[in-house]
Amino acid sequence: MRAAVITDRDEVSVEERERPAAGPDEAVVRVGACGVCMTDYHLYRGTFPAEFPLVPGHESAGEVVEVGEGVTGVEAGDRVAVYPGRPCGDCRFCDTGRQNLCEDLVAIGGAGDEILDGAFAEYVRVPAASLEPIGDLSYEKATFAEPLGCCIRGVDQADIETGDTVVIVGAGPIGLLLLQAFRASGAGTTVVSEPVDHRRETAADLGADHVVDPTATPLPERVGDLVDRVDVAVEAVGLPDTIETAHSITSAGGTTLVFGVPPQNETIEIDPFDVYYRELELVGTFALTPNTFSRAVTFLRGGRVEVDPLVTGRFDLSGLETAFDRMADSEGLKKIVSPGR
Ligand SMILES: [Zn+2]
Ligand SMILES: [Zn+2]
Repeated sequence: MRAAVITDRDEVSVEERERPAAGPDEAVVRVGACGVCMTDYHLYRGTFPAEFPLVPGHESAGEVVEVGEGVTGVEAGDRVAVYPGRPCGDCRFCDTGRQNLCEDLVAIGGAGDEILDGAFAEYVRVPAASLEPIGDLSYEKATFAEPLGCCIRGVDQADIETGDTVVIVGAGPIGLLLLQAFRASGAGTTVVSEPVDHRRETAADLGADHVVDPTATPLPERVGDLVDRVDVAVEAVGLPDTIETAHSITSAGGTTLVFGVPPQNETIEIDPFDVYYRELELVGTFALTPNTFSRAVTFLRGGRVEVDPLVTGRFDLSGLETAFDRMADSEGLKKIVSPGR
């Protein structure tokens, strides 16, 4: 089979590899499509630690072609989305439904202490328990189950109440999914802050009540004209500055959700008296759980979340490098690789 392999920092090439075989409790999936994520980009650039060679790709969907011994509930021919992790199943986090924090989490094509080959390949080997049936949902749409599952995890962490005012800082593919996930989960007024014109337009098309260009007027100034309070401010950029901004606009009793991946070992300034006196919460959200993944598939199958406007590039395996280049320039939105193209 062909696979896109990161052989070293900044080097990716298509190689011929042996097709994986399903071991006990495993399945082999013929990859229909796989989304390209910033995590893949960071693995490629060497900014997330990983051992090379490595096949990235953790946002995949396809058709089951083989199941191993002991597998029940899924069989060859099934159309599925792939949850890109193998939680241990018996640590204190797995026991309480927080598999994203598993003490022994193995990632499939994503970031983790141990990384198995992912889905920028014609076939991927996965635990059968990681598969979620997608019915007749297209593979391209089903690739969004992973990032949307992360967004639903974020909505859970923000603990919103129906009618809450939500501000989202950043309207990349994730910000645009977060917008829809919050709206589908009961958000009242939504505001999206984003400097790139076409991303703001897409946010408005997808239902944002207000869109703000923070380079024209700083968000903290503008937001006060638009809404009377901010119950949840979501940072979907991953920069210390924008986290501070999100925290600064959060109203008393509200929550700031740190969703974007910030650089490590940075610091932000917050006034602890504010946290105390105004009961402000600063909450993290990391990755997804099998539960939020499954709910994401439900949202996608039910048409509650629109993903077509988010896809701005379609590639075969050899196009992965071009996709990475475009991500470096923040060009477009989501890129999708179809290994069989
Ligand atoms: Zn991802
Ligand atoms: Zn565990």
